[in-house]
Amino acid sequence: MPRSLPQAEPFRIKVVEPVKMTTREERARKIESAGFNLFGLKSTEVYIDLLTDSGTSAMSDNQWAGIMLGDEAYAGSKNFYNLQAAVQETMGFAHVLPTHQGRAAEHLLFQVLLKEGQYVPNNMHFDTTKGHVLNKKGLPVDLVTAEAYDATSPYPFKGDMDLQKLEQFLTEHHAQVPLVMITITCNSGGGQPVSMSNIRATSQIARKFKKPFFIDACRFAENAFFIKQREKGYEDKTILEIVQEMFSYADGCTMSAKKDALVNIGGFLALNDFEVYQVASSLGVLFEGFPTYGGLAGRDMEAIARGLREVVEEDYLTYRIGQVKYLGDKLLDYGVPIIEPIGGHAVYLDAIRFLPHIPQHQFPAQALGVELYIEGGVRGVEIGTCLAGRNPSTGDHDYPKLEMLRLTIPRRVYTNRHMDVIAVACANVYERREQIGGLEFTYESPILRHFTAKFKRM
Ligand SMILES: *Cc1c(COP(=O)(O)O)cnc(C)c1O
Repeated sequence: MPRSLPQAEPFRIKVVEPVKMTTREERARKIESAGFNLFGLKSTEVYIDLLTDSGTSAMSDNQWAGIMLGDEAYAGSKNFYNLQAAVQETMGFAHVLPTHQGRAAEHLLFQVLLKEGQYVPNNMHFDTTKGHVLNKKGLPVDLVTAEAYDATSPYPFKGDMDLQKLEQFLTEHHAQVPLVMITITCNSGGGQPVSMSNIRATSQIARKFKKPFFIDACRFAENAFFIKQREKGYEDKTILEIVQEMFSYADGCTMSAKKDALVNIGGFLALNDFEVYQVASSLGVLFEGFPTYGGLAGRDMEAIARGLREVVEEDYLTYRIGQVKYLGDKLLDYGVPIIEPIGGHAVYLDAIRFLPHIPQHQFPAQALGVELYIEGGVRGVEIGTCLAGRNPSTGDHDYPKLEMLRLTIPRRVYTNRHMDVIAVACANVYERREQIGGLEFTYESPILRHFTAKFKRM
């Protein structure tokens, strides 16, 4: 029998950025002088940077060629019309408002639709979405399925909305709900996908209560790939068909182009309702720019337009999701505890099972991040007690249910050999886990403390 060929990267590399491996002693010194906070490191001090998948994608030759075709027009840029056409082809919404990032699209949407004291139900709000709801004195409500909080449940769509809870919430509070949202994939829940049947049913419930339904669409293509792999009836559909069906159930979306549009900056608000569009676009002039550029250069819009068409290619997604799974499977082979099933854009180490002897108030996920950096020059990000901040009424840490170190894989940036390095580094840390102690604050800022906190070893 001939061997089947392994699946390699569906691209060739024609520009490289050299990265340098430092010594263990250097890294131990650097992280100590950064106050044991990974945000305090310079990117040149990191060998493999897994802090985020946002704005870290490698663009294609086609996108770079598009950069040269930016017309930088204030009004009526041809690149805007190309972006609008790309959004209409993939997502099908009538109106497109470019913005400088995803959060700016959220800002405009909530400025128009949300009033003080109103609720926004979502499967799980991303930080900036939650921040913008709170900024308008609204109340974000997370109604994700209970499976999302069980780190070992193999449930294939852990991003699903709990439909019963949503229906019940709307029955009780519908007068105080201006819109329903769903986040695909569910970033705060570990990059877990939402099924097509759940998107459809969420839309039906929203319609029943006459509420507009918006998708937080940052990782829409990754979500579609999971639907194709895991949901009955979708195995023979193209990614584009799946994407079009997902968005057909919605009235609009907010998008960070820094994720699934494969660019380094940009975003947009897309929607069908012309009146909402009109109000949002006049506010957009104030906060972002004229509606045909919205804070972006023509070249950025061109790169987004091209990225949206590339990201739905199945070869790309097979490689993308495959690489994240490759890393996750290696870690499982080494016995390293991770959140399962493996999500779309990151592998999450489960710090509670990894370091069971470190109590949550001693920041086990942060301690794990520090050790992984010292071990292999790999920078992850803590998604745990430090990030969660304090409960405003009790002043105590707002302990999250999951304590994780996120290893976020940038798109088209690292090879599987890099994944091998990451996996071995994690395995080595796991082997010496009993010698690892907790951390305590030496500095804590009152807001967004995870960016600037400083720690010492216990
Ligand atoms: C990144 C992200 C945002 C915000 O987008 P920015 O471009 O970073 O402003 C919103 N929602 C989700 C789910 C995200 O991952």
